[in-house]
Formats: sequence, C-alpha cells, structure tokens
Amino acid sequence: MSGEGGALIVIGAGHAGTELAVQAREAGWPGAIRLVGDETALPYHRPPLSKAYLAGTATLDSLHLKARATLEKAGVELLQGRRVQALDPAARRVAFEDGSSIGYARLALATGGRPRPLPAAIAGAAEDADNFHYLRTLADVDRIRRHFAPGARVAIVGGGYIGLEVAAVAIKAGLKVTVLEAADRVLARVTAPRVSSFYEQVHREAGVDLRIGVQVDGFELDAARRRVTGVHCADGERLACDLVIVGIGIVPNTELAAAAGLAVDDGIRIDACARTSDPHIVAAGDCTRFDSALYGRSVRLESVPNALEQARSAAAALLGHERPFEIAPWFWSDQYDLKLKMVGLSQGHDQFLLRGSVEQRSFSAFYLKGERVIAVDTVNRPAEFMLARRIVGERRVIPPERLVDDGAPLKSLLQEALPL
Ligand SMILES: Cc1cc2nc3c(=O)[nH]c(=O)nc-3n(C[C@H](O)[C@H](O)[C@H](O)COP(=O)(O)OP(=O)(O)OC[C@H]3O[C@@H](n4cnc5c(N)ncnc54)[C@H](O)[C@@H]3O)c2cc1C
Repeated sequence: MSGEGGALIVIGAGHAGTELAVQAREAGWPGAIRLVGDETALPYHRPPLSKAYLAGTATLDSLHLKARATLEKAGVELLQGRRVQALDPAARRVAFEDGSSIGYARLALATGGRPRPLPAAIAGAAEDADNFHYLRTLADVDRIRRHFAPGARVAIVGGGYIGLEVAAVAIKAGLKVTVLEAADRVLARVTAPRVSSFYEQVHREAGVDLRIGVQVDGFELDAARRRVTGVHCADGERLACDLVIVGIGIVPNTELAAAAGLAVDDGIRIDACARTSDPHIVAAGDCTRFDSALYGRSVRLESVPNALEQARSAAAALLGHERPFEIAPWFWSDQYDLKLKMVGLSQGHDQFLLRGSVEQRSFSAFYLKGERVIAVDTVNRPAEFMLARRIVGERRVIPPERLVDDGAPLKSLLQEALPL
C-alpha cells in the first residue's frame, strides 16, 4: 500500500467506524489503522442512550462497542478527542483542528450525523441554556441525567423514536412529561396512522401529556438567561418547564466530504460496496446515501444494522473485495413493555394490514405496495420479526388474507410464498 506507511485512517469512532477498523484488520489490512473520533469516551453503543442508560439501568462499561484491549489486539490505534477539520484527497492527508495532519493510503468516512437543530429564530438563546438539550452523545445524556429528578417538568420537542423513548423513561422516573409534536401524529415519518395512534394511547395512559399538531415557536429564559423556564407554542400556549429535550431528527455529517469534492447529496454517495466517488475513500453509516436495489430509489438510513453492514462492505472494499451491503433495513425501539421492531421502508405503501391484537399489545403491521410487502412493524412479536425480515428482504408474496390470519403461523406462509 502506498501513502504514509500504508495507513488506513477511519474518521468517526461510532458504530460504523469502529466496526470498519476492526473488520479491515480481520480482512487482512497490512498497515497501520488509525481510528479518529472527536468524542472522548471509548466507542459506545448509541441506542441505549435514550433507553437503559438514560434510565440508569445500564452502566457505562456495558455500552462499550469493543474493549480497549480488543482494539489494541487488532492493532487499531484510537485517536480520541481529535476532530478532523479537512481532507486533502490529492495529497491523501487529513488535517486536524490543532493544525497537525497525517497521511493515508486509504480513508474511511464514518462521520455519522448530528441532531437537527431547531431554527435559530425559534431556539434563540435557549440553545446556550443549562437545561436545553439535544440527544446524540453520551455527554448529552450525562448532562440530561443531572436534571432527571422526580417531579421535574420536561418538555420534549419531537414525537419521533428518540422523543418517545425519552418520554417513556422520564415518566417512569417520576418526571412530569409533555411531548410536543408538530405533525398530526407521532412517528409520522415511519409508521401508519394506526400504529401512531396506538403509541399515542400508550403514552397518554402512562401519564404523558402528549400534544400533537403543536408548533414550538420560542422559549422563555430566566433573568440570568441561564435556564429555560417555559416553551411558547404557536397556538399561544405557554408551558412552564425545568428541562427541554429536542429530538427532531439528524443532519448527516457530510461537510468534510463535500469540501473535498466527493459526491454528496444529503449523505455521502456510496455504491453498493460502500465506495465513494474517490477511489481511495470508502464511507459507511448514517453519513451515507446509496441507491437501494430493494426500493428503487436512493436512501439514507439511520440505524445500527445499516452502519455495521456498510462498515463490513467498506472494509472488504479496502482490500479490493466486492461485498454488497444491502439488507432489508431494520430498526428497533423500546418504550415501556413494548418491543417495536421494524423492517423495510413503508413510504409509498398502498395497503396496510394488521395481524394480531393491538389491544393485547402484540401485533404485526404489514405495508404492501401492489402485491409486495415492503415493510413490517412488529410489536412484541420477535419470532414474526425474524420472518418479516425474510418476507421483505426476499420479496415474498403472501396473499393479504393469509397475512392477517393470526391462526396461520407466518413460518408456514413463508414456505408457501414465492419470490416476486
Ligand atoms: C438516542 C439514540 C437512540 C438510537 N436508537 C437506535 C435504535 O434503537 N436502533 C438503531 O438501529 N439505531 C438507533 N439509533 C441510531 C444509531 O445510533 C445510529 O444509526 C448509529 O449510531 C450510526 O452509527 P455511525 O457510526 O454511522 O454514526 P455515529 O454513531 O453518529 O458516529 C459518528 C462519529 O463520528 C464522529 N465525528 C463526526 N465528524 C467527525 C470529525 N470531523 N472528526 C472526528 N470525529 C468525527 C462523531 O462525533 C461520532 O462519534 C439511535 C440513535 C440515538 C442518538
């Protein structure tokens, strides 16, 4: 390998970057591997941040993606708390904020995403207040947990997965919880109205003050301008609060790639094997966008399974192997006693079918486009989820009347089903 000692530099030490670094070594990368991350913690699992870690039932140690010894054994040099400021693909160098730079033979971008900020005109000075938070990193949650006292009033802006998971944990911890969602239902981007209304009911029954169709249009601060004391809504309502948590999606971290001239389009463009438009650079995880063969359009996914799959393909690509990464995208969310697992992308479905019982909190929701099942949400049905992954991934056709027949095991239907 040419370039600084044949070094592989991986930027971003999250799920994708850490997996990529270790897999590159396993696949036979011969030179140095430098995993660069701007966070100071050892690489960690992000999903528990809004679940068990926020609830205080998971320890920091249990969050680590790999033990330090495992990284050392794989010869992965971890550069923590180092932020890459610029790439120079022509010279094959990356420059850090402190002015230093290092060279590479190959580069991997696994820069993930950052929370989508509220518009400045709405957030204003609240962004700098001690009790106003976004939730993406361990450091964010450690700050949030300091305000998690029983009786404290938390206003959660956004009724997506993160907002709802935080609401479930907060209500259990004895906080007074209000969720403010601008759309006319929660989880609107990812589920059908029936699933949204189920989750709305569950949260309300648990004691969450869930408000939909509510636009936040400003915040009230104390005299010292250190703390947010209230949230203003467009309908004129003012809500007193002790803590604000905003969860309104993410923005992919593509600036380094774009400035270096790589193809970027709301995500670093990669091919089916995680290669970017630069032959020396691969990319993986939340920061990427690719043409999905399964859905016939370009997609950007925000999930751990996608980050890991792409990382494995990127590692293979670095060694010159073709390993396409696309699997049916899947995701999970834990709220109360509900284990929601979803596979596929439901946008564009023309038929929605339910199997099982919403009342008994055990059901699967099927999204069909024509004959094809394009996505499935399962609630407390782990075995059906495994089968649903095959139905979606293998494009199996199962007649709608059979899908909704809860008496017919999905497994037997899968055996009868033909690929489209
Ligand atoms: C609270 C929460 C709950 C979630 N729950 C689930 C879930 O239940 N299931 C699921 O599948 N997914 C879940 N996700 C999404 C999942 O965590 C992400 O899809 C996954 O972390 C993506 O991994 P990544 O490595 O691509 O990006 P990230 O995890 O974002 O890692 C990227 C890293 O790169 C660093 N970085 C960026 N730019 C630079 C730079 N210039 N220099 C140095 N370092 C840089 C970032 O700081 C970050 O540490 C959740 C996310 C959050 C925030």
